[in-house]
Amino acid sequence: MEEVHGQCSCGAIGYKFSAKSLIAYQCHCSICRKATGSAFSTTLLVPERAFTWLRGEKGISSYAKENGYKVNFCSCCGSPVPNKFRDFSLLCVPVGSIDGAPHIDVAVQLYLGSRAQWDSDTLTGRQFHEMPRLDEVLEFLGVHGQR
Ligand SMILES: [Zn+2]
Ligand SMILES: [Zn+2]
Repeated sequence: MEEVHGQCSCGAIGYKFSAKSLIAYQCHCSICRKATGSAFSTTLLVPERAFTWLRGEKGISSYAKENGYKVNFCSCCGSPVPNKFRDFSLLCVPVGSIDGAPHIDVAVQLYLGSRAQWDSDTLTGRQFHEMPRLDEVLEFLGVHGQR
């Protein structure tokens, strides 16, 4: 088990979680582009029972869209911070908020059909034009999401 720590840019919000392996997905959709200000989001799904807020939980703001998309961010610095994954007992952890340099594999690429022309990174993992079945994605990420 590896213990991973993370925080927002200003440090007001901090968290930790433990995991056997760190397997992320990247999403190239237009919403993730807006939310990150960059070419794609990179996210880990972490079981709630393995996750602990260390500080700053009251300083979290949220934004949700009608289609179920949701993002949490620090009210002070605007950095994305972990948020609950739909009605699963999982948290979406934005990989950029993780401290240090733990080894992270990217297993799944979503919404490549929406990819920006200037999104020039070489991709690893399974690649999908839009969104495949959710249970497939969870399997590739090695998580079992009980609702
Ligand atoms: Zn902050
Ligand atoms: Zn997206």
